[in-house]
Amino acid sequence: MPFTHDAIIIGHGLAGAVLCETLASRGLRVMVFDAALEGRASWVAAGVVNPIVLRRTVPSWRASELLAIAGAFYREMELDYETELWKSLPLAEIFPTAQEAAIWQLRMREPEMSRMIGTGPLHDDGLEKLPQPYGHGVVLRSGWLNIRAMLDAQRARLSADGSFAQQRVSEEDMRRSPDGIAIHDCSAPLLIHCAGPFKQVPGVVPVRGEGITVRMRGLGLNCLLHRGAFVVPRGDDVYRIGSTFAWDDVWSGPTEEGRRLMMDRVQRLWNGEMELLDHWAGVRPGSKDRRPILGRIGAHEAVLTGLGSRGALLAPWCAEHLTKHLLDGEPLDPEVDQARFT
Ligand SMILES: Cc1cc2nc3c(=O)[nH]c(=O)nc-3n(C[C@H](O)[C@H](O)[C@H](O)COP(=O)(O)OP(=O)(O)OC[C@H]3O[C@@H](n4cnc5c(N)ncnc54)[C@H](O)[C@@H]3O)c2cc1C
Repeated sequence: MPFTHDAIIIGHGLAGAVLCETLASRGLRVMVFDAALEGRASWVAAGVVNPIVLRRTVPSWRASELLAIAGAFYREMELDYETELWKSLPLAEIFPTAQEAAIWQLRMREPEMSRMIGTGPLHDDGLEKLPQPYGHGVVLRSGWLNIRAMLDAQRARLSADGSFAQQRVSEEDMRRSPDGIAIHDCSAPLLIHCAGPFKQVPGVVPVRGEGITVRMRGLGLNCLLHRGAFVVPRGDDVYRIGSTFAWDDVWSGPTEEGRRLMMDRVQRLWNGEMELLDHWAGVRPGSKDRRPILGRIGAHEAVLTGLGSRGALLAPWCAEHLTKHLLDGEPLDPEVDQARFT
């Protein structure tokens, strides 16, 4: 029997969507299954693209390379889907102490960091209204990805082509043969699991994250902001604030503790009028060594997961790297190879 598709993907979060786009750009016929499960990460992600580990004021893993690939990828998608998805937005880091401000100054002298951070000051109406006794630094190469818009746009196109099924795939649904794999009436020589925290893959560590959406009337902030949590402006003085990190009870959904923690972060920042609009939670597919997890896990199966808290930055590089491995036989970087956990 000929295959109906060249590849099947399980999961339509950031990993599945970006991989689908990457494989389709190579001319592959791709079928996507997704079940919209409670706790999926991409639907609650704030969409911040930040190449700096703010806690330590160092570049995140392969920041420069990943940023270049991600920026080009999302801009290309914007053009293709005629939908605004990607926005370059500076990120202001309000220093909690004088020491943090001094460390920022020192780091700015390092060659890679000097291209990514500065001292501004950033002229933003909202930022100027916030207390900042030690000032702020600016991440220059940050941005915001409208993840939901991206997923919606791609799902609409895939659905119109009959290449998307809203369906949970269980182990019993997968029929493996020596040549490939079949799920219901779809078959392909390759199945890629992009099921995020829902697929138990060695090395994956699920991490719950919670955040809130608030209205801070009169703030007028336009840039991204970090001060204990990220503040992402969504227009009309509505802001998404997030997020927490919890390794226990990851599937519990939003908790009172998480809500209180996020409210506290906002109240320390802004003592004007504030209205709580929403409280949300999701589960990140983290990994034991904070690196993505890619590679073959069977004769006709592969995995792309472990995107952790930087999915938007990592996904395009991961999808390209995995595609070159699967289609062109290029070796996987041992740092991301799933084999390191098996
Ligand atoms: C609160 C929070 C805030 C975050 N903020 C940011 C941020 O600002 N910037 C950033 O870059 N990253 C952020 N992240 C991280 C980011 O969300 C993740 O790295 C990324 O979304 C992971 O994508 P994924 O596709 O691997 O997993 P998911 O988004 O969880 O997608 C997996 C998909 O697979 C589906 N699925 C699973 N099993 C099956 C099955 N058997 N059959 C069919 N479908 C299935 C699920 O329903 C889901 O749609 C945040 C995460 C959280 C939780």
